[in-house]
Amino acid sequence: MKNYFTRLLGNEEIKARLGKAIERGTLPHAFLIGGPSGSGKRTLAREICAALNCKGEGASLPCGSCSSCRRIYDGNFPDIIILKKPEDRATIGVDHVKSFREDMFLSSTESEYKIYLIEDAHTMTPEAQNALLKVLEEPPVGVYIFLLADECDKILTTIKSRSQYIAMTRFTVAELSEILKRKSSDAATMSRLDPNKFSSLIIAADGRVGRALSLFDKRLSEKSAEERADVMAFISSLQPRKSFVDIYEALSQFPEKRQELSLLLESVTNAIRDMVIFLSGGKTEPTFFTSSEECGMLAREIGMKRLLSVYDALLSALELLSKNAGVQNVRASLASALKA
Ligand SMILES: [Zn+2]
Repeated sequence: MKNYFTRLLGNEEIKARLGKAIERGTLPHAFLIGGPSGSGKRTLAREICAALNCKGEGASLPCGSCSSCRRIYDGNFPDIIILKKPEDRATIGVDHVKSFREDMFLSSTESEYKIYLIEDAHTMTPEAQNALLKVLEEPPVGVYIFLLADECDKILTTIKSRSQYIAMTRFTVAELSEILKRKSSDAATMSRLDPNKFSSLIIAADGRVGRALSLFDKRLSEKSAEERADVMAFISSLQPRKSFVDIYEALSQFPEKRQELSLLLESVTNAIRDMVIFLSGGKTEPTFFTSSEECGMLAREIGMKRLLSVYDALLSALELLSKNAGVQNVRASLASALKA
């Protein structure tokens, strides 16, 4: 058996049923795909579009790599037409649906099929929904219509009865956490989240992969912003006009957990290395700083001699951490090295 719709996670039963229908040429022409935001409705619709147009051979349908698949994933395929709720409006009105409907009777550009996706279908006014009834009942040849709805109770019964209903399944907490760990390209950053935060995000995602991923992105970017602020506070404390009290205060903001402290010290070390390279006239782009100007300004103020001694102190601290020295001892020895 082929692997169907590999870009959509879970929902195995739905994928097998629809994949086989596409291969047999028995796919219904109108669908209502229901499920909360972030549950994979759009991914499923796009996978079906790709499978209908896929030119590839192989174990997966769609193949994901033929020119049709690639253009569909890039949102760059002429015979897929999308209707969305305008951002400044609360509903999709009847006029939108009418012009959409007229387009269905025009011939396709290059594909055998014309595919229409109505996102936010639950925001269609009753008039707009009624305007769709006729084409749902008897779609023009080669036309497929997908209605994507967060709240299916807002869809008229007459529409529901004329389309095949697909309910996206939710994931259990255990499945979601497994998927996220597998999917995360940034495993190092993810590992910095404390386990309680990880669990609370999984629960907040309410079984939806898309939602979970966006919550993680947000949390990870907050986390890296916090870390960046700690590094910058430390670097500013090294300026000659600052006193040791400033350095001590910056150090007191450093994490108390071994792994977190070690990752932060690595970021500080990278920032110092950027400045040393800048002062030595190196041309490489900084890895920590966002621009050479920002890096250069601080580097000139702190000066090469101080930067090199701080760099040594940081490397010693990282070495102590790797040898399992106590976190408090490492912080204390770093502080005294910086005072010297
Ligand atoms: Zn393909």
